Amino acid sequence: MLMRAVVYDEYGAPPVLRQVQEPTCPEDGAVIAVRATGVCRSDWHAWRGHDPVPLPHVPGHELAGVVAATGVRVTRWQVGDRVTVPFVCGCGRCEYCLAGDAQVCPDQTQPGFTGPGSFAERVAVRAADTNLVRLPDQVDFVTAASLGCRFATAFRALTVHGRLRAGSWVAVHGCGGVGLSAVMVAVALGARVVAVDVSPVALARARELGAEVVLDAREADVVDVLRTATGGGVHVSLDALGSPSTAASSVRSLRRRGRHVQVGLLLGRDATPPLPMDLVVAHELEVYGSHGMPAADYPAMLTLVADGTLRPDLLVGEVIGLAGAGAALASMDRPSRVAGMTVVEIPG
Ligand SMILES: [Zn+2]
Ligand SMILES: [Zn+2]
Repeated sequence: MLMRAVVYDEYGAPPVLRQVQEPTCPEDGAVIAVRATGVCRSDWHAWRGHDPVPLPHVPGHELAGVVAATGVRVTRWQVGDRVTVPFVCGCGRCEYCLAGDAQVCPDQTQPGFTGPGSFAERVAVRAADTNLVRLPDQVDFVTAASLGCRFATAFRALTVHGRLRAGSWVAVHGCGGVGLSAVMVAVALGARVVAVDVSPVALARARELGAEVVLDAREADVVDVLRTATGGGVHVSLDALGSPSTAASSVRSLRRRGRHVQVGLLLGRDATPPLPMDLVVAHELEVYGSHGMPAADYPAMLTLVADGTLRPDLLVGEVIGLAGAGAALASMDRPSRVAGMTVVEIPG
């Protein structure tokens, strides 16, 4: 059986819509009929060759849809179930997966990176009982796809690692997609937010989303200003960008016993930044890395999306068809950090 998918044959070659073989269903997995899929900078990095992927390649890892087929060993899912999937899929068998931490599974797979992704009418997901997430009826497919990696990652960084409480101060360093998601989540949970970025446009958007204090990261004494504005530093700080300077600023933003969460990826020569470990010791700081969100943690977030506490739909910029997905991916050559994410919708 054939289906339509967006494919590129070489890194940087135009991604084109064409007929390809439908995926086969793994014994422990499911085939999802994709109804919506987000366009993400991670897909652009893979297309540009910054992350190796098998070629030819179908991108896409932020998907929502309907179960179209299940393997013989799947017990929890049936054809017709409305679902989404974390961008990290666990094996379903190791000690981490069994503990609900598939996001660090040593044998993880990622649709759209390790195999064909969701810029397609159908995509296969393995270990369905571990990796699929049921969508509440109130959450439409475009909104579910927009949770993608950025919103879910921000939510988990703040709630699980940050253990955020109402009234706490939070700093968000870097207000692109994941940073603005973090601002929205933190405000919705009753926290007081400091947004830090170099872009006036990004800071204005953070202010619209409820940030109480916005600071230009280029100011020489930005961390001192932040610490003064928050009465001695924030309880939780995120590096949502991923650079040695934002990581260090994030740690230095913390009040005593505060929690830093590294969300932005650190790549290449920036991969191991020097951090002020003297402060980590003297102030008993906690330092976490956050790598997405496992299926087991989704229900808490989806409940808040379904009741309108969280509005990820407000961060969606444009909804396009599958035929436009390749061009949308290629257009990320020109950075547009705050225009809102693009979501591809595939009518059922
Ligand atoms: Zn595993
Ligand atoms: Zn993504």
